[in-house]
Amino acid sequence: MPKPKKKLWKKPKVIIIDIGRCRYCGEEMTNQDSFVAFYPASQGKAHYQCMKEDDEKKATISDRL
Ligand SMILES: [Zn+2]
Repeated sequence: MPKPKKKLWKKPKVIIIDIGRCRYCGEEMTNQDSFVAFYPASQGKAHYQCMKEDDEKKATISDRL
């Protein structure tokens, strides 16, 4: 008796869009990265992680003052 064929799942097509460089580390980002966009748009975009690290740095500096 032939084995039942496995159901083939159609993989959703992953569309990767280049969204520009991170304003902190300067690396190219895609829509696959977790990123934040600043307002106004001229402020650019950044990795979520880079923004978080920058915020922490700022917090550390203000703690010293
Ligand atoms: Zn970055």
